Amino acid sequence: MKVLDLQCRQGHSFEGWFGSQDDYDAQRAQGLVTCPMCNDSEITKMLSAPRLNLGHGTTPLKPATDVPAVVPAAEVAPADASPVVQMQAALMHMVRHVMANTEDVGNKFAEEARKIHYGEREERNIRGQATREETEALLDEGIDVLPLPVPDALKEPLQ
Ligand SMILES: [Zn+2]
Repeated sequence: MKVLDLQCRQGHSFEGWFGSQDDYDAQRAQGLVTCPMCNDSEITKMLSAPRLNLGHGTTPLKPATDVPAVVPAAEVAPADASPVVQMQAALMHMVRHVMANTEDVGNKFAEEARKIHYGEREERNIRGQATREETEALLDEGIDVLPLPVPDALKEPLQ
């Protein structure tokens, strides 16, 4: 299944779902692809950004996470590594970045995040542990937190 971002001559943009690129080309050639708003069949394809569904929480502000103090060195995947391996490497890189740019407040995360939000503490990025319930409560209060999955490799202390 291929999802294409399409546009008609009037500038209406919409999504089209096709079995394949060839499917789209064939249907378009026969005038079967039309704008849902004005029925125009002169459709052009727009460049679309890749859609990555990384789950909920995409605001990297005050990460709620369980990050240990030790990071293994191998975080750059070889260019010919599989997409999954490259994704893991990118995730490790991000976790490392978060660790370098946040203050560890341990299990006081929810308390600290709340204090920062309400101006009782200076504004800064923090990380720490929070339960799922605590995280949801913070989000309910309009406090930006990012539940960050930590790769198993980062959880194991180096020998
Ligand atoms: Zn249109």
